[in-house]
Order: sequence, then structure tokens, then C-alpha cells
Amino acid sequence: MATIFTKIAKGEIPSYKVAENDDYYAFLDINPLAAGHTLVIPKHVEDDYIFHLEEDVYLGLCAFARKVAVAIKAAVPCKRVGVAVLGMEVPHVHIHLVPLSSESDLDFRKEKLAMTADEFAAIAASIQKEYEKL
Ligand code: 5GP
Repeated sequence: MATIFTKIAKGEIPSYKVAENDDYYAFLDINPLAAGHTLVIPKHVEDDYIFHLEEDVYLGLCAFARKVAVAIKAAVPCKRVGVAVLGMEVPHVHIHLVPLSSESDLDFRKEKLAMTADEFAAIAASIQKEYEKL
């Protein structure tokens, strides 16, 4: 059975898309640590552990995440974009990209941000716009 993230990448489950190419997809985390918290996934590989990926898929994922992070940094006020890989909840490889103002912004135990649909849509659109300039 397809993972929830495969369904998101295929558009079968809605998401706030920020970037996409043939092999990778980036969308806002629905329970963000900070505004602009983004997940980056491979579209065609459903492994649950990033270091199981074939090297070309892994390197492609990292290259795509780098570009998305540049777009996030341009769109969202922050000091830098932090990177995390957990995979404790969803068994489909994903990289978290989190705009950071302080170290505590990358604490996954802290209370998540409550954002409205309009806020999610606006931030996704502004990251997407920056991504398209790259
Ligand atoms: P992890 O597997 O890295 O521990 O956490 C999975 C992340 O995916 C969490 O931050 C969670 O908020 C996010 N997430 C889980 N289900 C969905 C979903 O259906 N849509 C979106 N946009 N994010 C999700």
C-alpha cells in the first residue's frame, strides 16, 4: 500500500506544495516547528530509512533539499535553515527543513505552531516563488 507521502506527492492527498521536480517533492509540514517548516521526499522510493537509499537517489534528494532550503531562507525571516532526519512517524524517507531563529526551533518535543489554511497557503506560495527564481 502506498505511503501517505506517496499519496501527497501524487496529489491524492492535499498538501501545501513548495517545490517539485520529476523525482522529488517538497511540501509544508502540517504540524510545523516554525513557519515554513518543509518536508522533502523522494517520489518513487518508499523506504523508511534515508541511509537505505541508493547513492544517486540520496544525492539527488540532498541536492533538491539544498535548493528548497535556499528558497526557504529567501522567503522566510530566519537566521538559517536547519536540517533534520527522523522518520519516527512516517515510514517514507523525508528531510525536515526548518527555518531557525534559535536552537530551540529544532526541538521536536516543543509545542507545534498553529497556522491557518491561509497562512500555510501564503507561506507555501512565497517559498515556491523563490524556488522558481533559482
Ligand atoms: P517523522 O517521521 O520525521 O518523525 O515526522 C513526520 C512529520 O510528518 C511530522 O513532523 C508530521 O507533522 C508530518 N506529517 C505527518 N503526516 C502529515 C501529513 O499528512 N501531511 C503533512 N503535510 N505533514 C505530515
